[in-house]
Amino acid sequence: MKFLNIILILILYFYSYPSFTSNYFDLIPIEVSKNVYVILGDNNDINKNNGGAISNTGFIVGDNGILVIDAGPSYLYASSVIEIINSYSKLPIKYLVVTHHHADHSFGISRYLEINTEIIMAEAEAKRYLKYGNRSLRQLSSLIGEEWFLNTKINSFQYKEKEYPVNLDLGARNIIIELYEEGHSDGDLIVKDLSSNTLFVGDLVFGQRAPTSPHANIYNWKNYLDEIIKKDWDILIPGHGNIIKNKEDVLQTKKWITFIDKTAKEASANGISALEIFNKGLPNFIKEYKLAKETWYRDLPLLINKYEFD
Ligand SMILES: [Zn+2]
Repeated sequence: MKFLNIILILILYFYSYPSFTSNYFDLIPIEVSKNVYVILGDNNDINKNNGGAISNTGFIVGDNGILVIDAGPSYLYASSVIEIINSYSKLPIKYLVVTHHHADHSFGISRYLEINTEIIMAEAEAKRYLKYGNRSLRQLSSLIGEEWFLNTKINSFQYKEKEYPVNLDLGARNIIIELYEEGHSDGDLIVKDLSSNTLFVGDLVFGQRAPTSPHANIYNWKNYLDEIIKKDWDILIPGHGNIIKNKEDVLQTKKWITFIDKTAKEASANGISALEIFNKGLPNFIKEYKLAKETWYRDLPLLINKYEFD
């Protein structure tokens, strides 16, 4: 009888094990400078294994409060991040800066509202989050499973209008938040921690990976990248991919958007279809980017289409 019980327990354990681990985030913060942390996302597309955690999250600890950069893809993810932060410091999480409205950066907002964190987001992006959030949440749930999005809600929140640049003091730690309108998105926020000279730039910069441009104004975005390169920083945290210390690494993003934009403009001017371009194979230089193929196939037709109606 005892033996049967053990077998039964083992069977139950075996069957409950996968569902237990599959919705668990294994997050490891990297301290890029004293009291400045980054949790790197999986530099991949959203899938069933990464639970949507593909973008980078940051947090900065001051003497009297903490600021988080980006909410991540879900309530579950945000809960894991908050748990980690609480294990490092008991100070309140005063601010959450959401760099833009895309799901992988914003869907954890509802978790932060529960702990009364002030949400800082460009007004245009907060509107997009509310307008398209539920549709996007349904799409993602059916793509990778709704267990990953347990308790995730698209909440309207008290929106505090801001004058950018915004200066914050976390206690012996000054932060500047700047707004870059109509670049990669309608309103990307970038965060600078002055003490460590670290710049969090959201998806204005992608590390090693093909940048996504569905809501982009590429002309402005290119200018913003030049500005970011000229700025004074020692450490730059892109929205996706590894920590950047060399200015040349920012050019990777510029090179891609310049090329895809030029290709789309020429195609639309000459009546060439995306399919005709695809038939020539992937251009050589873009092969060095992660997710080059997926991004190229997805974004080029969208851009050609956009220029046809311009
Ligand atoms: Zn992103």
